[in-house]
Amino acid sequence: MLKLAGKVRRIQLTEVQDRPLLLQVSTNPVLPKVMRATRAFLMSDGELPEGYQHYLIPASLEWRAGELEGKSSFTLLPDDYDYLGNEDIIRLDGQAIRVLFRANSGHNSLLVTEQCNHYCLMCSQPPKNVDDSWILNELEALIPLIPRDTPEVGFSGGEPTLAKDRFINLIRMMKSYLPRTVVHVLSNGRAFADEHFSQQYAELDHPDIMVGIPLYSDDPSLHDYIVQAPGAFQETVQGILNLKRLGQKVEIRIVLHKQSISRLPQLCEYIARNLLFVDHVTLMGLEMIGFTRANLDELWIDPVDYRDILSEAVAILAAYRMNVSVYNHPLCIVNNDVLPYYRKSISDWKNEYVPECEGCVRKSECGGFFSSGVRNGYSRAIMPFLK
Ligand code: SF4
Repeated sequence: MLKLAGKVRRIQLTEVQDRPLLLQVSTNPVLPKVMRATRAFLMSDGELPEGYQHYLIPASLEWRAGELEGKSSFTLLPDDYDYLGNEDIIRLDGQAIRVLFRANSGHNSLLVTEQCNHYCLMCSQPPKNVDDSWILNELEALIPLIPRDTPEVGFSGGEPTLAKDRFINLIRMMKSYLPRTVVHVLSNGRAFADEHFSQQYAELDHPDIMVGIPLYSDDPSLHDYIVQAPGAFQETVQGILNLKRLGQKVEIRIVLHKQSISRLPQLCEYIARNLLFVDHVTLMGLEMIGFTRANLDELWIDPVDYRDILSEAVAILAAYRMNVSVYNHPLCIVNNDVLPYYRKSISDWKNEYVPECEGCVRKSECGGFFSSGVRNGYSRAIMPFLK
């Protein structure tokens, strides 16, 4: 698992030590001088170019720190950040670093807020009811730094749409600064039940944006129970209908666990009959993190025990010619009829394999595990393909 945040030793020449600093990383020693003033140079074996706002010294080159002492501000990076590269974006805050964007990753997800109006049994990012508008300030500063050729960026939360006008502004900024970048928003969809809000969103006319909205049951009371929010089902479905009426792309996301599995075929029938026009349906394995660990008894079901139900669910959606994908499952515990819909989907920084995978000849096709699953428990049926 890649380490995205932690402590570093930062040596600062001026009083900005306590002010968070957002910096794009550069490995280019011949970058025009005017561009160096807003970037951090990542030191390598070569000569040190002058004029960068900040310098990053990998642990293996710590002996070169003397070249910068008294002349420039710099940070000593532990080995954990060896993966940093050109055009990545970091935040330095006191003696802490957070990697906000990785230019060579297809899995950049930007947190908009930790606030949420759901309290899902399996929430991977438990909500906090605090004013975290500083995150939005930071995102507004971050978007102009993201490389123009970035293929895709995700927005997540908490619930991103709780930021209302500032959420709309973020999407507007994405369209202005990164018009060729696909945007994917994870939302519970309820804000789009408000016609004015969904109209505002649609009027942005972003060239390629999709909202991923969870729906966990065709039974409103079960959906509301899973998300711990009375009335959620009604608003979520209304939000989906509004978005599609306005020509917007919608994905329905179903996380599979003991609660949602109980009526999965019925949910797929409901989607196919009532929401046939959505653009994508994803059936997703459970991440063993956040509230999931506290609610494990209520949630955990070994995926091998629902493999036939998963096959049935996929078959229903496929029969209606819906665009369906299966995410976050080890390859060896899904039935063959699921394979055409199987995707490697776990974000690269938290994707691992387990000792049983040793020698598996299909590892490169397999989506593997969340790091949290490797640590906290996974299927009893992992079986390497030997030919
Ligand atoms: S044994 Fe092979 S198919 Fe199964 S989880 Fe490991 S790599 Fe994937």
